[in-house]
Amino acid sequence: MLFSEIKGQQIIKERLIQTVRESRVSHAQLFYGGEGRGKLAMAIAYAQFINCRDPEKLERKDSCGKCPSCIKYNKLIHPDLHFVFPVAPNKEVKEKPMSRDFMAAWREMLIGNQYYVSLNEWYDKIDIERKQAGINVYDCNQIIKTLNYTSYESEFKVMIIWMVEKLNYQAAPKLLKIIEEPPDKTLFLLIAENPDNIISTILSRTQPVKFPKIEENIITAACREREEINREEAAEIARIANGNYKEALRLMSRDDERNEHFEQFVNWMRMCYTPDTLKILDFSEEMGKQSREHIKEFLQTGMEVLRHCLLLNYIPAGNIKVRKAEMAFMKKFAPFVNNANIESFSGEFNRAIYHIERNANAGLVLLDLSLTVAKLLKIKASAPAT
Ligand SMILES: [Zn+2]
Repeated sequence: MLFSEIKGQQIIKERLIQTVRESRVSHAQLFYGGEGRGKLAMAIAYAQFINCRDPEKLERKDSCGKCPSCIKYNKLIHPDLHFVFPVAPNKEVKEKPMSRDFMAAWREMLIGNQYYVSLNEWYDKIDIERKQAGINVYDCNQIIKTLNYTSYESEFKVMIIWMVEKLNYQAAPKLLKIIEEPPDKTLFLLIAENPDNIISTILSRTQPVKFPKIEENIITAACREREEINREEAAEIARIANGNYKEALRLMSRDDERNEHFEQFVNWMRMCYTPDTLKILDFSEEMGKQSREHIKEFLQTGMEVLRHCLLLNYIPAGNIKVRKAEMAFMKKFAPFVNNANIESFSGEFNRAIYHIERNANAGLVLLDLSLTVAKLLKIKASAPAT
């Protein structure tokens, strides 16, 4: 992880680089602040920078990314880079779970998410019971063992402890002791979202570094790096994300799925309107092979589009918050959704979802629904009552 890959947090970057320049890297630091602000990414970038062997790194204010140390850091496999995080038993690790048992999943999650990760995502990833998760005494014993071996490749051994608020009470004295009397050339980087939940004796022995929200314009720019996201959408995502880049990533991935559903819905409505029976058969069969969750979300997107179409008959388009591309379709489609058929549409879609949730043959449910939709689309609006 290079400093340049981190979204925003320029002041913190500068300050950390300065500690290296002045050889006053504090041996135990606490990076804290809300989700999605880049604490973990920064900890890794900082550790990488400290150990980068490029003599010009200080002038460049970043790691080289190419020296032997950086190459191992890029893959998170440097032998002097250690991670500890909350764990619990799962199907594979039944007893005495330790962070090292979950390293493959950990690396995969970090690298797959640009190092912006959340606690729930982690629990899902390793499939553990949330209530049981914590940084336990086995892991703390392991920290002591690991750090007491001499560093064999780099100047600094680095121990990154993620979500230190999840440290178990029984484990705390062990961690405290090694932070108080650390082996030579050891760097502890503790990461937390809420310092109020950290055991106070640990808190008092670390140097705090507060991570503010990421500026909206920086998140907008980061979203714009994806070519499918236009300026308006990026600004909208950044506004909703509220300084949390992880949330922006979540919103963008939900967007991808929604776009796919929307396009499929448009095609489906066309074949129902014609109606093209062969295409409908194909569609029902193919869509029926998707997961039940996927089909449900597809139908929910469809209902939302239908509701917007109905509204378009009554209120100005500017008052309906949808994407421009979607609005173009909805304007054309709106005349076919009206006061005489909207209730039937809604009832039929809900019925289909109900059956799919209860393991009915999804292909048949969709075929049935398609034929009903074909009929409903032919129903003209009834004249307003006089
Ligand atoms: Zn390097």
